[in-house]
Amino acid sequence: MASVYDRQVDFDTFMEGVEKRNPGQDEFVQAVREVAADVFPFIEDKPEYHEAQILRRIAEPDRIVSFRVCWEDDDNNVRVERGWRVQNNNAIGPYKGGIRFHPTVNESVLKFLAFEQTFKNSLTGLPMGGGKGGSNFNPRGKSDNEVMRFCQSFMTELYRHIGPHTDVPAGDIGVGSREIGYLFGQYKRLTGRWEGVLTGKGCEYGGSAMRPEATGYGAVYFLRNMLTRSEHDVEGKTAVISGAGNVATHAAKKINALGGKVLTLSDSDGFVHDPDGIDQDKIAWVRELKNERRGRISEYVEEFTGATYHEGKRPWHVECDVAMPCATQNELEADEARALVDNGVMAVCEGANMPTTKNGVDVFHEADVLYAPGKAANAGGVAVSGLEMSQNAERVSWNREKLDDMLLDLMSDIHDKCVDRGAGSRGRVNYVKGANIAGFERVAGAMLAFGVM
Ligand code: GLU
Repeated sequence: MASVYDRQVDFDTFMEGVEKRNPGQDEFVQAVREVAADVFPFIEDKPEYHEAQILRRIAEPDRIVSFRVCWEDDDNNVRVERGWRVQNNNAIGPYKGGIRFHPTVNESVLKFLAFEQTFKNSLTGLPMGGGKGGSNFNPRGKSDNEVMRFCQSFMTELYRHIGPHTDVPAGDIGVGSREIGYLFGQYKRLTGRWEGVLTGKGCEYGGSAMRPEATGYGAVYFLRNMLTRSEHDVEGKTAVISGAGNVATHAAKKINALGGKVLTLSDSDGFVHDPDGIDQDKIAWVRELKNERRGRISEYVEEFTGATYHEGKRPWHVECDVAMPCATQNELEADEARALVDNGVMAVCEGANMPTTKNGVDVFHEADVLYAPGKAANAGGVAVSGLEMSQNAERVSWNREKLDDMLLDLMSDIHDKCVDRGAGSRGRVNYVKGANIAGFERVAGAMLAFGVM
């Protein structure tokens, strides 16, 4: 009997299905839509991908583990949070991706991040599948002891689902070296094994040199590759950067090192604008403010004269040559993209994951602005995590120079893949399309080889 199952559905029908199966999960649907919009035309004449339902399978996580995380605060109150690990796809390597602690974390956000991570990790060329985890726990205002107790409780549930050959988490928003230390310590205590189960570790216990710098530096290397291709350079350019965490501050450092000038940094309360430039000393002060004193960016203007603080605002109306959103998802909307374009921005390079909304991306594309999506531009972080895994497996540690050279090569390689797969008319490149197709091809090729599962 002939099957009524339509193997080669069109884009709209496919997206209707994604929406129906993931009700209320707007971020996840947004991420899938963006990839599917490029993959559908690409696979139109490749029935084997349709037959095997490859995209449908990548857009359905292999599994989602969700668990209760119970801990005691400093006043002995019992607190209850929710934790997750989304294991999206392990066709090309163990699940790999960060852990995020932030009140905005929910299943939709982690599913979108794990989906994006699958393509990002594929682009690096290294053997890493896609995953993401986290909790709605808010580290802001918590003592070190509270964070430690939370991390230990979180790992007490998570440890049975991860391992150096199954799933290797790392940091993300709200999870830095302090949290990775507590998480790794608890894993080791529970299993009795010292192994490369997390990346972003301290250098004393198996971490890789250059891992803290890798996402921000890598994003600026990608930006430089884009600019070079259109016969420009970072030198002399003004940059507006959002965020004040690990990615933003290292991006800012590299912009300065290459002769650019950083005008802004931000956090979720507002942004600072320093027309004199946020130089290396000022960045060191911001890093100390955020990492040691756990303060807010508003304090910057008390320390440095000439700067202004803009409460409740994002920095996208400040005139600049390049913009680097390095804070969080959907932090740059269409009207802000329009303001950047009107002010003459030439390149936008994402250090965060999906910081620009779909309509914002359309504005950049229509205005012919060089635009690099996070899954390509911020892949340097996870790439050096992949190198940390290699070093742990070999029981060696490489020096900064070697790792920086490898990072440079990895970012050039990702850039070239985007150019190859995203080439359009008159020498233009659609980096979104290039990243989506190049990322998809590798995962899809592996999945085809495995058969139906
Ligand atoms: N959280 C980072 C990202 O979004 C790094 C993940 C990792 O190193 O595994 O890519």
